[in-house]
Amino acid sequence: MKKLVVLTGAGISAESGIPTFRDAGGLWEGHRVEEVATPGAWARNPELVLQFYNERRRKLQEVEPNDGHRALVDLESKYQVTVVTQNVDDLHERAGSKNVIHLHGELLKARSSRFEHLVYHWPKDIRLGDFCERGAQLRPHIVWFGEMVPMMEEAARVTSLADILLIVGTSMQVYPAAGLAGYVDFNVPIYYIDPKPSINYELAHADTVRVIPDKASTGVRKIVEELLL
Ligand code: NAD
Repeated sequence: MKKLVVLTGAGISAESGIPTFRDAGGLWEGHRVEEVATPGAWARNPELVLQFYNERRRKLQEVEPNDGHRALVDLESKYQVTVVTQNVDDLHERAGSKNVIHLHGELLKARSSRFEHLVYHWPKDIRLGDFCERGAQLRPHIVWFGEMVPMMEEAARVTSLADILLIVGTSMQVYPAAGLAGYVDFNVPIYYIDPKPSINYELAHADTVRVIPDKASTGVRKIVEELLL
């Protein structure tokens, strides 16, 4: 089976009702990133950070995958598919994708703020006073701006073996994720589906990029049908 890697960003979940952050003028549900999604924010105001992610987690449970997520699952009948997502939602998994790498963490998990390997399935609110089994406060299992991206190595390895790369709903501006397009071999076809595509350094240096300026729900379905012919 040919290997197909899909890199997704916030745009694939937009039509499910989860707003992207860039389309909202750099504000994330009314907050600046530095207020809620950095280690500094956690040190200064953990209550606000927890409240922000608790709200995101509650809202996630009210939304459903859309046809963009679902169309990607159909590719699994013909390809060995790995979805590398920058999203912290679980909409790929709920749509049925079997193999998902979360580069920026997962909203439905909590982890120890001291012992990073202690990670828990956590579908409810995280509160101050919720501790790991070794007595340290729990925090969202999210990669904040300025933190290491532990899954990047595995994502780069999988991408370097890909026969086809699909990129969906991402501004290709958030590194290191956006750099993944630079890991594929020269002859590997790259499809980039986004209503407002932006060509970064890595895409500008690939000769096999086809840009599909479309929403995820319709654009992904179209390309998936072609790839399944
Ligand atoms: P981003 O850099 O991936 O940009 C969003 C992209 O989505 C833009 O290029 C935009 O043109 C595109 N888009 C908008 N509507 C679309 C649609 N209907 N179909 C396809 N594409 C569409 O992401 P960001 O919003 O700048 O967020 C940065 C980071 O914040 C993410 O990498 C993620 O870690 C986090 N985030 C996650 C979620 C989520 O989990 N759903 C949502 C917002 C932000």
